[in-house]
Amino acid sequence: MTDLEYPWAEHPEPGTTLEVAPGVRWLTMPMGGSLNHINLYLLEDRDGWWVVDTGLPLPDVSALWETVFERELGGRPVIGVICTHMHPDHVGQSHYITERFHCPLYMTRAEYYQARAFSGGGNNYGNWVARDFYVRAGMPAAYLDELRRQWEKRSSDGMSMPQMPAGYQRLEHGDVLDIGGQTWQVVVGSGHSPEHACLYCPALKVLLSGDQILPIITSNVSVHPTEPEANPLKDWMESHDRLLKLPPDLLVLPAHNLPFYGVRERLRELISHHEDRMLAIEEHCVTPATAKELLPVLFARELDPRQMMMALGEAIAHLHLLMHKNRIERRLDEDGHYRFRSIDPDLARRSHPDRHDAPSDGPMLV
Ligand SMILES: [Zn+2]
Repeated sequence: MTDLEYPWAEHPEPGTTLEVAPGVRWLTMPMGGSLNHINLYLLEDRDGWWVVDTGLPLPDVSALWETVFERELGGRPVIGVICTHMHPDHVGQSHYITERFHCPLYMTRAEYYQARAFSGGGNNYGNWVARDFYVRAGMPAAYLDELRRQWEKRSSDGMSMPQMPAGYQRLEHGDVLDIGGQTWQVVVGSGHSPEHACLYCPALKVLLSGDQILPIITSNVSVHPTEPEANPLKDWMESHDRLLKLPPDLLVLPAHNLPFYGVRERLRELISHHEDRMLAIEEHCVTPATAKELLPVLFARELDPRQMMMALGEAIAHLHLLMHKNRIERRLDEDGHYRFRSIDPDLARRSHPDRHDAPSDGPMLV
């Protein structure tokens, strides 16, 4: 792994904030699972504060926000909420905060409408579209029942989609926000979510990277049944190529793990990680395989049904980019499963079996 530089060794205590650049404060909110936290940021303006990302839709998180409002904002209000993307750990408290202060929510259009579409249970798995998707990936039909049971449990851990604010203000790539006399540019990436907004302040040399660039964990890049032929890893790799044009000496403030220096090193590492995963899959597919059969190439341990869903989504994302690059082909067999086979005549020259990155422990669930 590349050596990145981490100016702070610890996260701020819940309910407190830490100034990480002039007018930029860092706080964390709790999450379940191995990740256990999300980083959120406050930007100071003349009349109040902007909140960047909001935490899971759980009562404990709302209570922690009240502590922050009371002790950390100098008696001034929140005047805007920016959500980098539509995942529940980012938008979970957006309704609570915008109702509390009657302030606007800012998001990109694709993120806002996807959040609206999936809130209220719009993303359920009891339909033929999802069944076809998972059976083609190599799963037995009974897996869908198990997945549905898992999905019904999600609201208790805050991972279901929350109610969203009734309206929003649109952010687009290239927009510039004036906050407290500083200009923040909206930099859009894609792949982890459809139209993810990062915020870049050239004067402060700070990038709020959301889940688009994380220093330690690898963001989930998945194909989902709602768009079974999607190619999100292509979007992800192209976004990383574009983000490499950012200045190398930025302080990156990510949504998970710790703030860091070394944006280009990390982007290159992520690009080569996915290239390595694709080559490992390609080598494996000399013998035709289903997406399910490829999971041990990517993940080291047994997966529960929800992890399995995320892991399959990631495997299929790699397969779709390989198909797009004409390195593998796909065939629908009589058993209803897709099988993937390597077709690039250059594979023997490029391959290096037994020299790949070790499989990941499990898929990322955010
Ligand atoms: Zn996310």
